[in-house]
Amino acid sequence: MIDDAERQMQFLYTLRSHGVTDARVLGAMETIDRGTFVRGLFAERAYEDTPLPIPCGQTISQPSVVGLMTQALNISPRDKILEVGTGSGYQAAILSKLARRVYTVDRFRRLVREAQAVFDELKLTNITAMTADGSHGLPEQAPFDRILVTAAAEDPPGTLLSQLRIGGIMVIPVGQSDTVQSLIRVTRSETGYDYEELRPVRFVPLVEGLGQD
Ligand code: SAH
Repeated sequence: MIDDAERQMQFLYTLRSHGVTDARVLGAMETIDRGTFVRGLFAERAYEDTPLPIPCGQTISQPSVVGLMTQALNISPRDKILEVGTGSGYQAAILSKLARRVYTVDRFRRLVREAQAVFDELKLTNITAMTADGSHGLPEQAPFDRILVTAAAEDPPGTLLSQLRIGGIMVIPVGQSDTVQSLIRVTRSETGYDYEELRPVRFVPLVEGLGQD
């Protein structure tokens, strides 16, 4: 039997060995217990470095990928962040420990409701969760310092790019669904956008319109 402290050490070791080295990111991931976000059948696998099913046919991302995406955003404490794809709420909770304000949207009402309940339980008061089609971003709160998309698009949506502040960073998986996708980092400059390919990833697709649940 391994106890909580050992499990935590193992979890952090796995993150480090996958390249998550930023102390603030590791600190946030130490604080936010992934077990709180995985309910039911898969709860006992919450500390494995693997994506797991959540309601509405979606997935909670792999912890090392969550860590690498968070690290790639290079977040400052004053940042206002938009996350597209709330899912379980795990990624948003980690962002909330590093930034001033997090807006997170999902196309499934049920996922937003359940994630909001966990945010309340954990007293993460700087997160605003909403049901919305995130491919249009959140114009009423734009511009954002950072945008994180946790579902794969064929191309970075232009509307989202336009909601990035100059100097801002967007991280997004790009590619055809169910084939190999690439994690891309886009930095907005005075004159345009700089693109950088980070690593291959696999995410559920970004789908337009609201879900049924
Ligand atoms: N970040 C999540 C994992 C997200 S899985 C976590 O930490 O658990 C991807 C999520 O993106 C799914 O919940 C899916 O419903 C959502 N999604 C897909 N297309 C979307 C869209 N156009 N707008 C908002 N959310 C979307």
